[in-house]
Amino acid sequence: MAQRLNSIRQNLPETVRLIAVSKNVSAEAIREAYDLGVRDFAESRIQDALLKQEQLQSLSDICWHFIGHLQGNKAKKALQNFQWIHTCDSLKLAERLDRLVEELGSSRSILLQVKALPDDNKSGWMIPELRSDLPKLNEYKNLNIQGLMTILPLGLSADQNLEAFTKIRDLGNQIDRQNYANLEMKEFSMGMSGDYLTAVKAGSTMIRLGSIIFG
Ligand SMILES: *Cc1c(COP(=O)(O)O)cnc(C)c1O
Repeated sequence: MAQRLNSIRQNLPETVRLIAVSKNVSAEAIREAYDLGVRDFAESRIQDALLKQEQLQSLSDICWHFIGHLQGNKAKKALQNFQWIHTCDSLKLAERLDRLVEELGSSRSILLQVKALPDDNKSGWMIPELRSDLPKLNEYKNLNIQGLMTILPLGLSADQNLEAFTKIRDLGNQIDRQNYANLEMKEFSMGMSGDYLTAVKAGSTMIRLGSIIFG
């Protein structure tokens, strides 16, 4: 793992945050990555994550990211146990998160999941839909929206990946210029093991790497 992490880090600008996707590995593997300096970990199922977090309580400076599809009835648990939620994928979920944040009194960082291309297997906004929901999203004052997250469909070429990631980055920049009071567009969670170098080229600020770190 040390060698794999080193070679990933060598190619990474300092502005890009490396998030280790630990959804398929044990608390032991997380500890190993932690000992190699990784502090950001991502999980996609709440129950699994809570078990691992319990085993890793002593590593109190881990920053936990939620990257799975978030069901409404799990939203509270997600807010209580993750600093970042990358997968706010609908107005309905945004509204619920906003209400819960107010109730819990603790702010989290939220990303809006958006699709660069149609993909029936993924949730999230299509770009035109997100644009029309922006004024509504801007009303959720408790939600700390920090940027956009995307997962590309499988089977695209490197050029198509670059084009799709760039589209999301451009969208974020356009939203930023509209100066919504409650919508920050500073973070772009884009890129997985197979496409992260392309994502970085397009301006990703957070890459989510699983298999390339943990094997
Ligand atoms: C599993 C997963 C990843 C990591 O995928 P790898 O190809 O193993 O790097 C990244 N993002 C999301 C949303 C995932 O579900």
